[in-house]
Amino acid sequence: MTTIIDGKAVAAVLREKVASVVAQIGAQQGVQPALAVVLVGEDPASQIYVRNKHAATEKSGMRSIAHKLPAETSEDEVVALVRKLNEDEAVDGILVQLPLPDHISPDRVINEIHPDKDVDGLTEANAGRLMLGKDGLVPCTPQGSVILVKTVTEKLSGLHAVVVGRSILVGKPLSMLLLAENCTVTMAHSRTKDLASVCREADILCAAVGVPRLVKGDWVKKGAIVIDVGINRIEENGKKRLVGDVDFDAAKENAGAITPAPGGVGPMTIACLLRNTALAAARRRGVAVTV
Ligand code: NAD
Repeated sequence: MTTIIDGKAVAAVLREKVASVVAQIGAQQGVQPALAVVLVGEDPASQIYVRNKHAATEKSGMRSIAHKLPAETSEDEVVALVRKLNEDEAVDGILVQLPLPDHISPDRVINEIHPDKDVDGLTEANAGRLMLGKDGLVPCTPQGSVILVKTVTEKLSGLHAVVVGRSILVGKPLSMLLLAENCTVTMAHSRTKDLASVCREADILCAAVGVPRLVKGDWVKKGAIVIDVGINRIEENGKKRLVGDVDFDAAKENAGAITPAPGGVGPMTIACLLRNTALAAARRRGVAVTV
């Protein structure tokens, strides 16, 4: 029997744990942790993401502070806001919604965020900490992916993990997290020769590519854990739908456990953002928590 990993259910449990950590911080320090979200411009998808993050943050008991700036805001003005939020004692986490308008360098703005408030884990400081195996804030989607793997088995040591995709947002940090779990990690990408054979070696196969159903059923070793990060909008039989980077129906015949897409990694991303914000608040305010 193949286990279908229910990301929604795992995310719901994590969100409850976050809510209890938030309550603990409130009880010990008399403060309500706060997440500041910076949105520049009117990108419709970004507006939806920010609204969802706002609702989830409030539901967990934290304060959500939205800074909505017009598209013509200068890079220096956005940097000035980030610096102000860095200094603000009441703000525990800062998130700058990407993409930024073309005239603003995401690199400059993101790296202005204080690493201890960088709840997306995207600053160079946090990327370095992850690489060095030091405590830091870890990007949300890869963090959520590893939590899902651990719902299947806690014993990752020695397993061969293949990560397809080497993006800064997902593939690279996911590879680092799996390495930290003592997996033998192979990073595959668009230049990898014979990707199918590489994938067939995987005990844990993670796809973060952005190509609908790239990973075929016969690329999956019998019993492997398959984590599908992909979210792709396609049109099929005249209907719009979302599919992952894995051919789910075929892959589940071979997989021991597999995430659906949607309903797998997706819900974990916001849950891990909340987790990072609660952790950032607890660390800054000297409250010992586990979540
Ligand atoms: P990206 O475009 O930044 O990176 C894609 C990676 O895939 C690149 O490293 C590239 O080398 C590799 N690649 C491209 N074509 C390939 C091929 N044919 N064979 C092998 N490798 C190939 O994308 P990303 O930001 O890492 O996102 C990947 C997917 O994950 C997208 O579908 C995205 O929508 C989804 N995503 C989901 C979440 C979530 O919350 N679930 C979060 C972020 C991204």
